[in-house]
Amino acid sequence: MIIILLGPPGAGKGTQAKKISEKFSLPHISTGDMLRDNIIRNTALGIKAKSYMDKGELVPDDLLLDIIKVRLSEPDCSSGFLLDGYPRTLAQADALGKILDNTGKEIDVVLNIHVDDEELINRLSGRRMCSCGASYHVLFNPPKKEGICDSCNGELYQRNDDTPETVKNRLAAYKKLTEPLIDYYNKKALLHTIDGGKDIPGIFGDIAKVLEEI
Ligand code: ADP
Ligand code: ADP
Ligand code: ZN
Repeated sequence: MIIILLGPPGAGKGTQAKKISEKFSLPHISTGDMLRDNIIRNTALGIKAKSYMDKGELVPDDLLLDIIKVRLSEPDCSSGFLLDGYPRTLAQADALGKILDNTGKEIDVVLNIHVDDEELINRLSGRRMCSCGASYHVLFNPPKKEGICDSCNGELYQRNDDTPETVKNRLAAYKKLTEPLIDYYNKKALLHTIDGGKDIPGIFGDIAKVLEEI
């Protein structure tokens, strides 16, 4: 099964992706996590991507093409995968379409997680991350022990792009460059819109229902 998670920053893509990946045994591919990993390792890609990410802008399409191509060709992706945060532009959607065409694969479903702007800002301002990819919220989804990751005992941190000014830019970039993908995938009859305003288990229940019908 090939699943794309679409949604604005803070919609809960990463949170739901972890749960989907466990229940449906699919590799979770997050371009945000991959880019942050490149920044930590100080790779050429990480150095280039950092300046865009710090400002809340999207990283240019051509910088992502190689990493996504390589990742999708790895053996664990052979029978399906879950994309979180890719594609984010029409050019990326076309590029992904070509990669899949070349390997005889097709997208099964695009889950569009819809959340109002005000709620997105509340979610992003209280988000705490772990380097293992887990994400928490100080009020809405706190870890069992303050500041410590439930799954790996790692120390939680606040992402440096979760600041009010950067969040404003990220939401603007979403509206301008990513939102057109809703129409793009709707026209391909792949889109399922999910009410992302519910609590975490409620959203997961709705997503699982959609996936079980595929
Ligand atoms: P995204 O990957 O879409 O940017 P995350 O999964 O990191 O979003 O979630 C953003 C923040 O909102 C995190 O702090 C997370 O714990 C919290 N969160 C996720 N889903 C919900 C929800 N349904 N209700 C309240 N808070 C949520
Ligand atoms: P969120 O869903 O909370 O916005 P991500 O971790 O998915 O966060 O992305 C963080 C940042 O990484 C984005 O603001 C952007 O700069 C960059 N990024 C991630 N995925 C992409 C992508 N597909 N195209 C361009 N930039 C990306
Ligand atoms: Zn962790």
